[in-house]
Amino acid sequence: MNPPPSKHFRPPDRNRIRIDGTMDPLDGIQVQIEEKGKRASPYLMLWHQKEMIREMIPCSNALCFDGGFSLGDLLRELVNNQQHNFIGTNFCRGREGDPERGGPRPSCETRFLVEVKLSFR
Ligand SMILES: [Zn+2]
Repeated sequence: MNPPPSKHFRPPDRNRIRIDGTMDPLDGIQVQIEEKGKRASPYLMLWHQKEMIREMIPCSNALCFDGGFSLGDLLRELVNNQQHNFIGTNFCRGREGDPERGGPRPSCETRFLVEVKLSFR
């Protein structure tokens, strides 16, 4: 019988954004993301804690590969510009279909409605 895995062990989470210092000048943050599209998630994503913010927002479309968008890139831009508010639409960068096979690979039509509020120290 194998011993149970240690409760202290957690695999490294490479999707965390705060490691690179992007969030350091921030005092508070609110990120709200709503997915739109034929196969979009019906759930609203909402974060208030810097620690919860991830670099990549995945796409919920099951047919989509390499999808999602980089929330990290957006936040880095906002922080560099000292921009307190952002409301905009980001398009999924993925395509539908099977990357291993031929056939048409239309762009994923998922859109992300993004609202960001930042407060700086
Ligand atoms: Zn997608």
